[in-house]
Amino acid sequence: MFNKIRNWRVRRIVARHPIPEPLWQAALERCAPARRLGASDQAALRVLATLFLQEKSLEPVQGLELDDADRVLLATHACVPILKLGLDWYEGWHSVIVYPDVFVPNRTQVDDAGVVHQNHTALAGEAWGRGPVILSWADVLDTGRRPGHNVVIHEMAHKLDLQNGVANGFPPLHRRMDGRVWTKVFSSAWNHLRDEHRKGIHLPIDPYGLENPAEFFAVVSEQFFEEPKALREHLPEVYRQLELFYRQQPY
Ligand SMILES: [Zn+2]
Repeated sequence: MFNKIRNWRVRRIVARHPIPEPLWQAALERCAPARRLGASDQAALRVLATLFLQEKSLEPVQGLELDDADRVLLATHACVPILKLGLDWYEGWHSVIVYPDVFVPNRTQVDDAGVVHQNHTALAGEAWGRGPVILSWADVLDTGRRPGHNVVIHEMAHKLDLQNGVANGFPPLHRRMDGRVWTKVFSSAWNHLRDEHRKGIHLPIDPYGLENPAEFFAVVSEQFFEEPKALREHLPEVYRQLELFYRQQPY
């Protein structure tokens, strides 16, 4: 019964707010992971993007304006990771705040000794527990120009990771997946890359992934969708776990 109501609702939204064909084609043109999909997966992604645009609020700030094509592009990137998971995985938050460029979050942090620090780091994106996703539009547009990078997929991976509490590189796994294998594969890959990085060896992923397990998961997720061949070559076991988690075989 619930499924029937839901399917009816989905059909109604898609019928009332269809993504116009030229905007959809333009989004595919600029989103490599979506472009690589087969026709039926692209159709499913288009439905998800339509629902995403209805359910989430895209909020440009600081004078930025997003037209319909921009919004469709953002939704298309955002729905790639949940193509086989469903929009329920993005439950519990509503807003995507979009800055024109990198932004400096205005917040203070109190360390263990009680000292208050002002954080001045410029960010391309940020994902809060049950709060918004924050993105730099310049970095969204940069996607594809820097191989393996996709700031939208990065922040959405954090959102998936956060679905079971804290961001720790351990999202809720599917029933047939083994958490011990996940932990072992990710921690041994992380340790291995950290050692190589210390020796000055060029890494197959963005070294930012070595910041902590949450960033590692987000960075390899970007690579999984943007440069799947390279990830599979360099970190085959990580690739396999991501294949099981995202239920996709991008390569
Ligand atoms: Zn991150």
